[in-house]
Amino acid sequence: MKNTLNRLFIILLLSNCTKTSELTTEICKWQDDKKSAISITYDDGIINQFTVARPIMNALDFKATYFVITGKLNGSGKGKFIGRPISEIIAESAKIKTDSTNFFERASAIGFSGVANSIYYHTHAGSLFESGKIKEAYALIDDGYEKLRTGVPIISDEVIFHDNAIDTSTWDDYRNYAKEGHEIASHTVTHAKLAVLDEPNLLYELEQSKADIKHYLGDYYTFSAECPYGTENERAMQYAHKIYPALRNRMPETWLTELNRGNKENPGNANSEYVQWQRGPVNSINMATMKSWVDTCLVHDNVWLVLVFHGVDGVGWEPRTGAELKEYFEYMKAKEKDLWVATFGEVTKYLRERKTAQMRYF
Ligand SMILES: [Zn+2]
Repeated sequence: MKNTLNRLFIILLLSNCTKTSELTTEICKWQDDKKSAISITYDDGIINQFTVARPIMNALDFKATYFVITGKLNGSGKGKFIGRPISEIIAESAKIKTDSTNFFERASAIGFSGVANSIYYHTHAGSLFESGKIKEAYALIDDGYEKLRTGVPIISDEVIFHDNAIDTSTWDDYRNYAKEGHEIASHTVTHAKLAVLDEPNLLYELEQSKADIKHYLGDYYTFSAECPYGTENERAMQYAHKIYPALRNRMPETWLTELNRGNKENPGNANSEYVQWQRGPVNSINMATMKSWVDTCLVHDNVWLVLVFHGVDGVGWEPRTGAELKEYFEYMKAKEKDLWVATFGEVTKYLRERKTAQMRYF
């Protein structure tokens, strides 16, 4: 849809050469020769991200990236278990304990057992597994299946924030937001823990989401994705990188250092050409700190600040108010002379095209 290279700002430098006069063309480090880039991203397709945050961004002419859970929308492929009948898996669990040979299948299936709150076992087994507590993850799945077999209710106070009934966006809505310049990108079909899905279910989460985005919005929007819970699980990343060119979770580029949300390192200490610096403005982060991230971008020339928002105005995980967003985005706008505010996909494409472009004229 858009060729970023067309918009590359070019600085012409005449360099002295002892043999011939050489004109070298250099592509700016950041578009329009800015000092750094900021991408404003929202996860989970929470309604107020579109109805509250989007108008604030539109008024400032800022474009966001929305990582949406496609299974929430009417007309999309829905969450489902792909495999043998779940009843068979449940019956088998009475005889065979959970181990490495059946864990992924069981962890994939339990969320679709039809029992209220059973998704708790999927997500918590996923968290245990990813933190290296493999035996505990197996034991939790055994516990969950025992409850399924014996009809013991599954008690969980977990708030499944990504399946909120008030998130009523439609594909028509997303198409309109895309027309405004926002990037709609994949956050999988159901927001599963990809690290504990077996292959057919892992592929379904990634491929069906991509197919629906392609069908309703077009190829341009199948570029970026975020695998849920910010996972960096090696196996999940291998699958996801084959399906989506850019993952906010992790990029393959050696010239890009990534400091993810939990990383306390100062991006100024990184020596690489680019640093993708992810920050999550959760409730415990005050406005002064949020603004200091923007200031940090202006004292280095290699920082790409990627902001990860979730809830807005009381809806969704760790919500920030519309007033806070307005104050924050206006702060960025005031410094826009030096900041390139663009979608995750646009910044990724610019950096990649710059790194691969050869522009040399003799
Ligand atoms: Zn999410």
